[in-house]
Amino acid sequence: MKKSAAKPAGKAQAGATRKTASKSAVRVANIPGISPDAQPLAPARRPGEELRSRANAIFDILSEAHADAHCALEYRDPFQLLVMTILSAQCTDDVVNKVSPGLFARYPDAEAMASADLDDVMKIIRSTGFFRAKANNIVAAGRALVERHGGRVPEGMAELVALPGVGRKTANIVRGNAFHLPGMGVDTHVRRLSQRMALTRSDDPVEIEGDLCALWPPDRWTMGTHFLIFHGRRVCHARAPRCSGCVVQDLCPSAFLKAPGRAIKAPALAARVSRARTKPRVSSPRRKPR
Ligand code: SF4
Repeated sequence: MKKSAAKPAGKAQAGATRKTASKSAVRVANIPGISPDAQPLAPARRPGEELRSRANAIFDILSEAHADAHCALEYRDPFQLLVMTILSAQCTDDVVNKVSPGLFARYPDAEAMASADLDDVMKIIRSTGFFRAKANNIVAAGRALVERHGGRVPEGMAELVALPGVGRKTANIVRGNAFHLPGMGVDTHVRRLSQRMALTRSDDPVEIEGDLCALWPPDRWTMGTHFLIFHGRRVCHARAPRCSGCVVQDLCPSAFLKAPGRAIKAPALAARVSRARTKPRVSSPRRKPR
């Protein structure tokens, strides 16, 4: 399982997100059914019907191939998911799942975390990497939850991203999985796959979120995140994507390229997309559900 590329959300990441958001404040999307504070950025260019159709065909195929896709973090409540998502930066979900039971045995809720001994927290979460920043963030987040929200994790995007260590990726993961609200969490897999599939031209997670949200309807955002993550873990690996066994190879401009990510030209893509509509799908490797 690959590590998330995102570093722990500290001042630098939060600053970068704010910088992107403020730079693009004039082009925040206005998607029906999404609260104003949770609106993603509007894409730099309005996507055409062909791109939307290809993106939704990819979703449909991945939903069959990875029908068991789910949030791999083993949480029991919104507080645990919030903390575990902060811990997952630059770390595998497996490591977070191993460390978390010990952490939550000592600090089961926001109140306990707010008064936690920082050195003890660092010791427990050391194996997740960046443990000083992460310990500071989760203890500070516990305090903020107690002071501002009565110890409960809020659902609102504005309230979530105001918590220490929480950016839009973490907020979307919490909203999408703990609260069942539409949430597109852009981690390293989502970024890599959406670039390879030419669903975005951006390298900025906040802009990528906006591009994907413009292609899929809100009820596809949360599961779309999981489908891309599972496909990235199982098939479209960072170093050596297994295009020959990929169920969306005919819809992916990067299929069989030596340097995936360099999209093919539009006519060749149109031919692939057209072939995909008539060709039987190849089977996808499956893992046994845990
Ligand atoms: S065709 Fe290859 S590059 Fe495209 S999504 Fe599939 S594995 Fe990734």
